[in-house]
Amino acid sequence: MQVIKQVEQMRRWSESQRSKGLTVGCVPTMGFLHEGHLSLLRECSRRADRVVMTLFVNPSQFSAGEDYEDYPRDFEGDCKNAEQCGADVAFAPSVEEMYPEGYQTYVSVTEVSRDMEGAIRFGHFPGVVTIVTKLFNAVLPHLAVFGEKDYQQLKVIERLVEDLNMGVEIAGLPTVREDDGMAMSSRNVYLSGPQRQQALAISRSLFEARQAVQNGERESSVLRYDAAVKIKSAGMEVDYVAVRDSVTLEPLVKIDRPARMLIAARLGSIRLIDNMQLFPG
Ligand code: AMP
Repeated sequence: MQVIKQVEQMRRWSESQRSKGLTVGCVPTMGFLHEGHLSLLRECSRRADRVVMTLFVNPSQFSAGEDYEDYPRDFEGDCKNAEQCGADVAFAPSVEEMYPEGYQTYVSVTEVSRDMEGAIRFGHFPGVVTIVTKLFNAVLPHLAVFGEKDYQQLKVIERLVEDLNMGVEIAGLPTVREDDGMAMSSRNVYLSGPQRQQALAISRSLFEARQAVQNGERESSVLRYDAAVKIKSAGMEVDYVAVRDSVTLEPLVKIDRPARMLIAARLGSIRLIDNMQLFPG
């Protein structure tokens, strides 16, 4: 696997693959790879002839006071794992390469990024949308693979690509979970043993909400209330528990169409998100 750090070199590499008639797939990540990321890489190498993993902890998507400086990093380990899962290139630019002095362009998606993560993490989605646009301009992919773990992000990227006619196919893959149901996340390393047990309340609430819907519950308010109570009783602070139309992310009062529950909660300074399809279950 080749490591590329310059945008121009990345573009030249992709242009040469494209000129040979090969398809280029892209898996954007912030590194510290776990099985969730690796599942995206494997699927990308099934679907595209060449795979580029991007590895960039993007400062512009972290708000003031968030964990940008402390975000876990393991460049060597990530390269080894990515190569084993079919990556041909790790595109790992520096912050200066992506945001050189004088940088002043930001891209934003409106409606779908307005609430949930967008309301709580001010500036997060403009940061995500801008870096994804820049990464796509460097990697020139035919296909990009994202995880449903960040479900609102996936919907925001789908909107971006469609609205700006980017011509990149977006694939969203299911969340990979630990055996006990917890969604894998690079941020799980922040959790102590007891905190990990507390944090399990998030995935349990999602599984229980899905079960309740299977048993006939159709009131979104009941599902949201039950989940919030469970998470609070585990000692966590709830940022939001939402039940949304899985396509548009509009709030749902009744579960009468494909629906998704999305949760964000905090344990001290550690913030975790997860979501699940409720219906069809
Ligand atoms: P990140 O490194 O956190 O920016 O994530 C990079 C990509 O991996 C995003 O598309 C995430 O949605 C995806 N991802 C993160 N965790 C998981 C998981 N547990 N299962 C599947 N995909 C994931």
